[in-house]
Amino acid sequence: MDISIEKLKEQMCEVGRRIWRRGYCAGNEGNHSVRIGQDRVLCTPTGISKGFLEPDDICIINLEGQQIELNQNQQRPTSEVLVHLAIYKHRPDVRAVIHSHPPHATAFAVADVALPQGIHPEAEIFLGKVPTAKFAMPSTQALPDSIIPLIGDQTNTVLLGNHGSVSFSTDLIDAYYRLEILDNYCRILILCQQLGKTNVLDVAQVTELLEVKKKFGFEDDRLMCAPQGCITSDNQDFLATFDVRPTTATCQCNGGHTITHQTPPPAINQTRPTDVTDDALTPIVQAITDQIMAKIG
Ligand SMILES: [Zn+2]
Repeated sequence: MDISIEKLKEQMCEVGRRIWRRGYCAGNEGNHSVRIGQDRVLCTPTGISKGFLEPDDICIINLEGQQIELNQNQQRPTSEVLVHLAIYKHRPDVRAVIHSHPPHATAFAVADVALPQGIHPEAEIFLGKVPTAKFAMPSTQALPDSIIPLIGDQTNTVLLGNHGSVSFSTDLIDAYYRLEILDNYCRILILCQQLGKTNVLDVAQVTELLEVKKKFGFEDDRLMCAPQGCITSDNQDFLATFDVRPTTATCQCNGGHTITHQTPPPAINQTRPTDVTDDALTPIVQAITDQIMAKIG
C-alpha cells in the first residue's frame, strides 16, 4: 500500500532529526527528497536545520525544479535541488535522495582518498563500490554534472569531492541506512589508520562475500572480476595513508623478547641540567673534596 503524502512528510522530518542528531549536518546543511509521482517530488526547504523540520516545511516541486505550491510555512526548496532531480531523471528506480555532510565520509572526500573495498561485510553488501566525484561548485549544474557519469545501475552512494555525500534508494529509510553505513564504515577505516594497520580480505573471502550479497538479492557486477583480485587492487590510495610504519626493536629488559615500537623510543633523559656548565661545577666539586680531605686528615 502506498504511504500517504502526509506520512511521507513526517518521515522526512524524522529522518532530518536523525541526520542532525548524528552530526551528519551542521547548521542548515544538507537536504533530502522523496519522489511521489512521475513529475512530483517532496523536498526539504532551504535555510533550515534538519533537526527543526516540521511537515509544513516540506516543499512540493516538479522535475524541472519549479515549486508547485507554496507550503504552509512559505519556504523555498533546497538550493541543491538540481542534484536530486538529476538522479531521479537518470535512475527511474530511485524514489529517495539524501545529500549530507557526514564527517568521516566527508574526510575521505576532502582528502581525496578513494574508499577501499573488500574490508567490511556491511559496506560491501549495502554500499558496494562508492565512487568519488571531483569537486564541483555547490548549488550549480556543475554538481550533478560531476556525479551523474559515476552513477551506474548498481550505485547507491557517491562521495562529492571536498563536499559530502549523496545516498539514494527506492525509499527514504533505505537511503538513510546507506548514509549511516557509509559514515560508520569510514569511521572504522579512520580508527584502523590510528591503530596502524588494516586487514584486507583475500580474493576468496571477497568473492564469497559477493556471492552472499547475490543471495540477499543485491546484484553486484564486481562478482565477475572478484576472483581475479581486481576489487582490492584499488585500495592503494587508502593503504598509502598509513605513513607511520611499525619498526621492530629488541627489548633488553626481559630476556630479549621482540617488541614493536611505532616510533623510535625516546632518548633517556639526562639527570644533569643542561644549563650547568663544567666551569660552574668546578668550585663546588673542589669545596666538597676539601671538606672530605680535611676530615680524613
Ligand atoms: Zn552540501
